[in-house]
Amino acid sequence: MNKSIMMRPVQTQFPTSGGCTDSPVLRERGQREVFCGLTGIIWLHRKIQDAFFLVVGSRTCAHLIQSAAGVMIFAEPRFATAIIDDRDLAGLADANEELDRVVSRLLERRPDIRMLFLVGSCPSEVIKLDLSRAAERLSQRFSPSVRVINYSGSGIETTFTQGEDACLAALVPKLPAADVAAGPSLLVVGTLADVVEDQFARFFKAMGIGPVAFLPARRSTELAAIGTNTRFILVQPFLGDTARALEARGAQRITAPFPLGAEGTTMWLSAIAQAWGVDADHFEQTVRPARDRAALALARQRERLSGKKIFFFPDSQLEVPLARFLSRELGMQLTEVGSPYLHRQHLAAELAMLPAGTTLSEGQDVEQQLDRCRAQQPDLVVCGLGLANPLEDEGFATKWSIELVFSPIQGYDQAADLAELFERPLRRRALIAEKAACA
Ligand code: SF4
Repeated sequence: MNKSIMMRPVQTQFPTSGGCTDSPVLRERGQREVFCGLTGIIWLHRKIQDAFFLVVGSRTCAHLIQSAAGVMIFAEPRFATAIIDDRDLAGLADANEELDRVVSRLLERRPDIRMLFLVGSCPSEVIKLDLSRAAERLSQRFSPSVRVINYSGSGIETTFTQGEDACLAALVPKLPAADVAAGPSLLVVGTLADVVEDQFARFFKAMGIGPVAFLPARRSTELAAIGTNTRFILVQPFLGDTARALEARGAQRITAPFPLGAEGTTMWLSAIAQAWGVDADHFEQTVRPARDRAALALARQRERLSGKKIFFFPDSQLEVPLARFLSRELGMQLTEVGSPYLHRQHLAAELAMLPAGTTLSEGQDVEQQLDRCRAQQPDLVVCGLGLANPLEDEGFATKWSIELVFSPIQGYDQAADLAELFERPLRRRALIAEKAACA
């Protein structure tokens, strides 16, 4: 019998309706407690190994980056801040000349830099310093050895993960055009820890999916060619601008839930496998060992987390996929799931898998949300650093949402580590209560 007749291609199975698809969303526009987009530099500079991030900002921006990244004593850092001081703010100095001087000095001293990001901030936007023109000017001067690109990490009306979105969206126009005669290719979009990227690459290879490229790549010289035959898939829900920029260049998005947990990873991989017409049995054989290992590890954690109430303050934009993972695979009870922005299209499958009746909120009015949190008395609160300490003081166990962006959490092998990130603060809180009872 003809082998191709026996093939049964993968059919993705994830809901696109039901759950919280049509649930009302509590929209708030009050005081917010979030970090700005400069924070993204911390994980982006680790990923793109020959890039340098030069923040054009104030001492506050420099402090933020330095304290978020930790002080690097032995390594040559790959980020810095060109300080805009009072003279610049008063319009007394030519900030462009100063910027050119700083960049020239930097590139002379660091010939290893191949891509330089000029990262805008609130102060550079206040003085209307045109960093796109600066990037063009400096690119011409230092091309071809260094490419200079600009994006904004400003904290005005943004949240911290938007820094990555702005950075990747700025990279899209620089990607070369794919040959129109080229066959289909896959672009995986969003920063992944190298270990996770390698695991996904092994799955793609085993299923015959390719050629595959990652955005961002580990080296700035490895820019993927894109065109109408490019299919791309997001690994993070906060990459709306990047997705739009890729679509504007003709690339087509593969829709799927995000690869968090055993179930999410299976659905994400199966959506790609379906797009490539992979045989269902072949897919099952490829993913089964890792999926079963992850499910087994999660079953143990489910015993400890099931029934625990969790409340999400809006911070990372990962809240909805995380809530889906915690409720479906670990049996946690969702009280409120807050997110800075709810991208309904990119989150369609995720929302459909949240239990109906879950309170969804978008944006923030922090005092009101704190009142709702206190009224719910959750076992665990996921929030930004600024809220964590006061909430701990009030007796709540907290998880810093920023840690979820820094840690490798996607894929099968990381599913149990992801669950562990939520279990640890509960264990710590239980120990504190035990000690207090013995005292
Ligand atoms: S970019 Fe704006 S919000 Fe971010 S550290 Fe600088 S001044 Fe603060």
